Order: sequence, then C-alpha cells, then structure tokens
Amino acid sequence: MYESSSIELSLKALRNNIRFLHRLMGKDVKISSVVKGNAYGHGIAPFVKIASKCGINHFSVFSADEALEIKNTLHDNATIMIMGLVEQESLQWAIANDIEFFVFEKKRLQEAIKVSRKISKPAKIHIELETGMNRTGFSAKELPAIIKFLKTKKQNIHLKGLCTHYAGAENIANYQRVKNQVEAFQQLKQMFIKENIEPEQLHTACSAASIMFPETRMDMVRIGIMQYGLWSSPETFMHYLNSQRNKKDPLKRVIAWKSHVMSVKQVSAGDFIGYGSVFTAHEKMKVAVIPVGYAQGFSRSLGNHGRVLIHEKLCPVVGTVNMNMMVVDVSEIPQVQKGDEAVMIGNQNGQQVTVASFSEFSNQLNYELLTRLPPNIPRKIIS
Ligand SMILES: *Cc1c(COP(=O)(O)O)cnc(C)c1O
Repeated sequence: MYESSSIELSLKALRNNIRFLHRLMGKDVKISSVVKGNAYGHGIAPFVKIASKCGINHFSVFSADEALEIKNTLHDNATIMIMGLVEQESLQWAIANDIEFFVFEKKRLQEAIKVSRKISKPAKIHIELETGMNRTGFSAKELPAIIKFLKTKKQNIHLKGLCTHYAGAENIANYQRVKNQVEAFQQLKQMFIKENIEPEQLHTACSAASIMFPETRMDMVRIGIMQYGLWSSPETFMHYLNSQRNKKDPLKRVIAWKSHVMSVKQVSAGDFIGYGSVFTAHEKMKVAVIPVGYAQGFSRSLGNHGRVLIHEKLCPVVGTVNMNMMVVDVSEIPQVQKGDEAVMIGNQNGQQVTVASFSEFSNQLNYELLTRLPPNIPRKIIS
C-alpha cells in the first residue's frame, strides 16, 4: 500500500439508488447520470463503469475533457451530453464523436454549423432556455431569430432537446422563483411548437427539482447527487419522506473513504497537541495520527470538529488539520495500534460517519466536500 487513503465505491449501493430513481420517476422518464466534478469526487472512470453495469446509458458532464474520459471508458456504449463548456478546439471532436451539447449562444450555433459542414455530420444540440436563473440560456427575445435559423439548418443541426436549469429547487425559500421558471419554460417551449419544431427531449430537472416539483421531470431528469446516495438538502429529504408511509431513507451512500492509523502516542495532561495552542489535553490522553489532511480533501475547518471511526468508535479530531495529517483522540480505545483502519466517510460494523456530518461541522455543502476529494486518491469498486 503506497497511498495514505483510498476511496471505495459500492456497486450494490448504486444499484439500489438507480432502482429507486427509476421507480420514482416512472418508466417513461430517462435518467441522465450527472458526473461533472469528477463524478462528485467518486472518479469519472470507475463511476461510469459501475453506472453502466446498473443500466445507465446517458451521462451529463460540464466540459469536453470530462466527456472524453467517459468516451475512453465506455466507448460508444453511452450518450454523453455536455451541459457547459465546449471550446472551439473540442467542438469538432464532440460533433465527430456524437457528443451532444447545450447551446446557449448564437455564436456557438454558428460554429457548430461550420464544423458540421466541414465534417458532413450534423451536430446534436440541446437548446438551453433562460427561464430565470440568469446564467446561461436563450431569452424569449433572442428565440425567434434562433428558431428561424434552426429551420434553415436542418442538415447541420439535429435538435435533440430543449432544457433549462432551476435556481435552487432544493430550498423552499426559492419556491416561487422556481415555479415561475417552470411556467416560463412552458411558454418558451410553445414558441418552438408553434413553428412546428418538436424537440425529442424536454429536460429541466436536477435531483431537487425532480423531488420538489414532479412536473419538471418531463422526458429526462439530470440526476447528480441522489444517485450517489445523498439528498440535495434536508428539505428535499423531508419533502420526500412526508409523501411516504415508510419513513426510511431509500438512498444508500455509494462512497466510503478510508485510511489507517499511522502512529499512536500518549500525551500528558496540560500539553498542547499539534500546531500552536489550539488544543490542550486536560487529562492524560492517547492520540492516533492519521495520514490525511487538507491536501487529501479533509477540510482544515474540521480542526477540533471532525470525527474519524476507529474500532467502531467516533474519535474526535484534536487540534488543527494539517496538510497531510490529523491527530484524533483514541483514549477510549486501549487496543488501538498502527495500521488499524480509520474511516473518514463510511461504516464500521453499523457505526458510521455520514457525508452530512461533514456539512454540519465544516459548513461545506455535501457537493463541495465530495468534489474536493483529490482525483489521485485510488478508487476501488466493491461489489
Ligand atoms: C449539476 C447539474 C445537475 C445535477 O444536479 P444535482 O443537484 O446533483 O442533481 C443537473 N443539471 C445541471 C445543468 C447541472 O449543472
């Protein structure tokens, strides 16, 4: 073993989550698995491999480099959709390889047509509509010209879909804003229908929208966080539970993150532990050093707050989290020794450290914590 920690992906948990999502969304709704941000830290290549085993054949990414990683892993066995950045250099690659992409600027549309002519292959695009998030998307004002343009370029443009994204569906505070967006999408869609343009797929929902606003599911849902076994927010989870008789969490966490005890030592009462005077031992203590720090994605803000599972006990971090190490209190574990398993995220015989517990202690969103897990931590698939 060379690495200081490793990440395990549970095929069984993913299978459970995908099954649940299919059942919830209904059989006519396609699931696009969102794997931007290195598959929310799970690792694109290992994750799409197991997702593919679970029957997923549609993936959404942010940029062309992520699309390439999927292509290299699954070859032509999946549809890949880029929701964000496709630069000039990658546009030809994308079109030649049947990669679909969002279009939200006239310029990209014109460039796509140019490339399509050059390689004699239509570009498969999704027109993104501005419904109120004010990030990317065509506004109502721009659409008539775009629609007219599309009608004359049918050989070069294959209009796969119409889409939009909601500005915070996971938060009740945004309820009216999202409702207005749902309405705006319907109106903008009508502009296409009136001109006899019928896109194959309408898709607007992320995880939270698919739960909080079922009418947003349409033909396809773009599911990120839920497939990994986590909820977008506590409100989203509560909203789901309130609609159910069985009050059990249907999702299972796919990821586990583990290391081991690097060294154990005794500390006398009154001594400081680690850098500075952040932690004083009030009594004789036993501490263990874990070779994981903020360089490995364990946030520095978890100093004196975070917890690690060793011998089925939650051991608090004492002092600051260093770049490559942290110190945890193991006074309650007489048998602890070098080499023992230490779990940052995951289970040990029924005891667990959840991803949500990190959010509580470090003010990080579960999204942020996961995507910050460095890509060089080895990922292992557990069946
Ligand atoms: C990230 C993203 C999603 C998925 O969001 P989750 O909350 O993880 O389900 C869907 N659509 C777009 C456009 C996104 O950027």
